[in-house]
Amino acid sequence: MDIVGLTIEKLHKAIKSKETTVTEVCQATFDRIEKLNPKLNAFLTLTQEKALARAKTLDTQLSNDLEMPSLFGVPIAVKDNICTEAVRTTCGSKILENFIPPYSATAITKLEEAGAIIIGKTNCDEFAMGSSNENSAYGPVHNPWDLTCVPGGSSGGSAAAIAADLCVVALGSDTGGSVREPASFCGVFGLKPTYGRVSRYGLVAFGSSLDQIGQFGKTTSDVARVLSVVAGRDLHDATSSNCDVPNYLASLNGDIKGLRVGIPKEAFGIGLSKDVKSVVETAIKNLEALGAITVEVTLPHSEYAIADYYIIATAEASANLARFDGVRYGFRAENNKNLSDLYRYTRDLGFGAEVKRRIMLGTYVLSSGYYDAYYLKAQKVRTLIEQDFHSAFAQCDIIAMPTAPIPAFKLGEKTEDPLEMYLADIYTVTLNLAGVPGLSMPCGFSREGLPIGCQLVAPHFQEAKLLQVANIYEYAYPNTKHLLLS
Ligand code: GLN
Repeated sequence: MDIVGLTIEKLHKAIKSKETTVTEVCQATFDRIEKLNPKLNAFLTLTQEKALARAKTLDTQLSNDLEMPSLFGVPIAVKDNICTEAVRTTCGSKILENFIPPYSATAITKLEEAGAIIIGKTNCDEFAMGSSNENSAYGPVHNPWDLTCVPGGSSGGSAAAIAADLCVVALGSDTGGSVREPASFCGVFGLKPTYGRVSRYGLVAFGSSLDQIGQFGKTTSDVARVLSVVAGRDLHDATSSNCDVPNYLASLNGDIKGLRVGIPKEAFGIGLSKDVKSVVETAIKNLEALGAITVEVTLPHSEYAIADYYIIATAEASANLARFDGVRYGFRAENNKNLSDLYRYTRDLGFGAEVKRRIMLGTYVLSSGYYDAYYLKAQKVRTLIEQDFHSAFAQCDIIAMPTAPIPAFKLGEKTEDPLEMYLADIYTVTLNLAGVPGLSMPCGFSREGLPIGCQLVAPHFQEAKLLQVANIYEYAYPNTKHLLLS
């Protein structure tokens, strides 16, 4: 049997029935990575030795007849802005090229306790700033569906790794769409939970009021399993919520008869590609065929979302990235005359162009004289955007809309024009500003054969609803086109 590309359920069956072992699965995964990573550049660091040692231990535990934890033996890839103890964590930046965290993120500790095996760290835009993975200091990731296209960003390595069967599940981070957009571009499921659902402890901060650790999988049940493990209150993160964590896997049952699906008219206007429009409209018709009732809703402040996000996110980034000064972490420029030169040259040589652009923009909007005009105003607009969702959810149970306005674009196509690039986030940033959860599910292909995702949005802490709807859709309208990559 082929032991890569299995779902967690199938993997567990195969292990239980002794058709395979955790070690064999792990080895086969690394063999595939060795073969395909040179083409994709999805992984920046592999933890082969550690992973295989752990696999061996898990295999012996199994023969001792212990109960199988929910992620037992599951190879998982982790975005390289999530700290892993004793394993290099670069954030896709030169400034952290040799940074080895002394501790693991809470999400990582929880995954390991549940039996998962971390196989490596995935490539991403530097400090998660980007929509194409082209801002990585370690070269771009290539989209497995078309190697001349971007995989999306910033969690491009995680999304590409799932699509190419280089892991079973993966973690990413989503500040403005970085899980959902690459999920859409690579044809996999990607979930951004409610702000506070998953602890951010150990996630290198970009926009602290927007950041969430998200989950990637090839199926909704895999995503549900990972979320059940990583969600919940954490004393290391004061913004993590103590709202109950349901068993997301168990909530996948049922039907969607009578479910009210809101369609925001603003998400189907100018800028939306013809292919994405027709694929998402078909997905909505399919939801209707499954018993859902569509209602038109409005998110009137969406037109300000990009501007709003790029003020708030850059302001927070400028403060968060002040810690990278050549004294405390990673890279330090040599031969400086004094301390201010040390800061200056370290940051000049260590950060890439997009990160510098954002630090400058963020510093500007926070500076005295401009604070009220930009930052304060942006916070007010953010409240209006959140209120839009509250009003919409008074009329519907979930919202369906495109994840991104376009399918994956060519490498290099938008690198010269940052504004063009920012527009890829037009449908995703509103959710982070409002704190609500969103899931991108694959639902079709462009005429060029590139995957297209439909984004489902739910009220705060209703991830179970998103997963349930996507699960019903996944079984009713299975993907018929499979990626062949060798
Ligand atoms: N593409 C967005 C940005 O560049 C979102 C990034 C993210 O979610 N981390 O900021």
